[in-house]
Amino acid sequence: MSDRNETLFDTARAVIPGGVNSPVRAYGSVGGTPRFLASANGARVTDAAGAEYIDLVASWGPALLGHAHPDVVRTVQDAASRGLSFGAPTEGEVELAQLIAERVRHGDVRPVERVRLVSTGTEATMTAIRLARGVTGRDLLVKFSGHYHGHSDGLLAAAGSGVATLALPGSAGVPAPIAAQTLVIDYNDPDALATVFAEHGERIAAVIVEAASANMGVVPPLPGFNKLIADTAHAHGALMIFDEVLTGFRVHAAGFWGLQQQAGEQYEPDIITFGKVVGGGMPLAALGGRAAVMDMLAPVGPVYQAGTLSGNPLSVAAGIATLRLATPEVYAAVDAAAARVADALDAALTDAGVVHAVPRAGNLFGVVFAGSVPTTYAQAQAQESFRYAPFFHAMREQRIALPPSVFEAWFLTAAHGEAELAAIEAALPAAARAAASASV
Ligand SMILES: *Cc1c(COP(=O)(O)O)cnc(C)c1O
Repeated sequence: MSDRNETLFDTARAVIPGGVNSPVRAYGSVGGTPRFLASANGARVTDAAGAEYIDLVASWGPALLGHAHPDVVRTVQDAASRGLSFGAPTEGEVELAQLIAERVRHGDVRPVERVRLVSTGTEATMTAIRLARGVTGRDLLVKFSGHYHGHSDGLLAAAGSGVATLALPGSAGVPAPIAAQTLVIDYNDPDALATVFAEHGERIAAVIVEAASANMGVVPPLPGFNKLIADTAHAHGALMIFDEVLTGFRVHAAGFWGLQQQAGEQYEPDIITFGKVVGGGMPLAALGGRAAVMDMLAPVGPVYQAGTLSGNPLSVAAGIATLRLATPEVYAAVDAAAARVADALDAALTDAGVVHAVPRAGNLFGVVFAGSVPTTYAQAQAQESFRYAPFFHAMREQRIALPPSVFEAWFLTAAHGEAELAAIEAALPAAARAAASASV
């Protein structure tokens, strides 16, 4: 039994490490053959064998409007006809920077006065950290266990033993002295935050945090925790780097920050990073902050940062079109679709007698095979994750494509209409039964 996906995967592994260009795509945690996608439209993707799936990955978030939105595609085609890359400033970059700055506001509070465009989320967080170090003249970085901020050396750091110890390399190839510039502490743990600042406060340049964590499964911040980070960092002269690469322009027009301001949790991050939705599916990411911080970047200030393809005209065109089309109606549709699928997921697992929780953060949600919503990485890891592979494959057999890991969020789009949502609801009970009968 060999379909086109299997043939391609075999061929791919001969020429690409593991056959993929980003590890999670290899289906390592669910087993089986990854689907090689040939096309995507709206809420659906089609694989190399011609099979169509309702998609709950949305390119890991960017496809807020649905795949290949005709207006976005046309805008990119028009831009392509005018030239693929110039290595010089363009009018579109100014417009996109203005759109980002304009959106990230709550009343008179506008934490993003200046924006620098880069190509990936990894670059955005890497630059944010260098900028925080340049601004403060300090070296240490605090990050939370289980939070993902891209794959730069200092962020591939794993907690050492005990609270507030210097981190160990989280990947082969990361020098120990670089990992030791990062302090990894438990998420949602006010004591750990207090301790790390009590021990190292004068040497800490910044705390970096996912706005709402979604890379260890969805683990929402406890009420007040983001504000506590801002207050603690600021009391010690450190910056707060708020990583909205995944959440920005997806959970709300003003990102997760905007949602929390609306809910009355008032704080101001010093640097905010964006990616995924902001590029509308093209390689584009950004960082933003107040002028006093951002103007420390070259060519105005002493912190170096550059990029041959930064502000690429095709990416910028996709970003502008996507943000312009991401109206309040779009957010309302994505919120409603996410709530409906999350509720159906919860109900199906309950009916099948599976111990589970459905953590939610705005319109982000996922599944956890444990009795309660985790608050830390240790709790997220302690679940019965072996139940996910049969669940995932049962959905896939019914032509619903879920993220190939239990530690990822499910992504809805504005293109998930009644037909797709009903199909997902109809598929969930069989998948829940597969999860129920799973064994280690
Ligand atoms: C995806 C992601 C990144 C990394 O972005 P890339 O474009 O993959 O480099 C950083 N932070 C968060 C929170 C992310 O979800």
